Amino acid sequence: MNSSFEALGLSEALVRAVTDLGYTQPTPIQLQAIPAVMAGTDLLAGAQTGTGKTAGFVLPILHRLATQPATHAAAHVAPHGKSRKPVRVLILTPTRELAAQVEESVRTYGKHVPLTSMVMFGGVGMQPQIDKLRRGVDILVATPGRLLDHHGQRTLDLSHVEIFVLDEADRMLDMGFIHDIKKVLAIVPAKKQSLLFSATFSDEIKALADRLL
Ligand code: AMP
Repeated sequence: MNSSFEALGLSEALVRAVTDLGYTQPTPIQLQAIPAVMAGTDLLAGAQTGTGKTAGFVLPILHRLATQPATHAAAHVAPHGKSRKPVRVLILTPTRELAAQVEESVRTYGKHVPLTSMVMFGGVGMQPQIDKLRRGVDILVATPGRLLDHHGQRTLDLSHVEIFVLDEADRMLDMGFIHDIKKVLAIVPAKKQSLLFSATFSDEIKALADRLL
């Protein structure tokens, strides 16, 4: 077994997934982020791509979801009478490529845990995304514009989000997403765990972190 990932307290199913991938040692960002996220605390982390930051937040998020039942009854009854699982985790990314990569990581690291994920971005049809949401999604990875489109059309309920992640927050601000981020923050519950990842720390990022964490 993989003693170093096990020592962080990750469940056997997650240790097995990283062992399958050939990871032997957690990276520095993983050593810091995994225990903090597992403990439920908010986190502001400086991390570039290539440092293993994705596993740094995805592994402890999967651990929390798999070990803690949803705060609301799992068979949540949607307004239109259909029972479905509420979205419990929202991960926002600046680009569709990054969204797809992060969701791929969720599936890879979560292959032995019974959780569902979905990637959502613009430029493709809404209907397949609506169908997928109806079938139930625990972890949603999205770019801000399409996310807000769904919310505006009432095809997405974010009122049960327990964990909110802003990945590559500096790039999101560079791309002009600040207003969208503020809109999303107004939609998700005030009481949640928030994680902010950024490679750089401008005054704008610090202001956003103050607001979020
Ligand atoms: P990221 O910084 O999240 O984009 O990850 C960069 C790359 O490192 C990805 O290809 C991961 O599969 C890989 N990786 C993440 N964590 C580890 C680890 N503990 N040991 C070896 N490779 C890892």
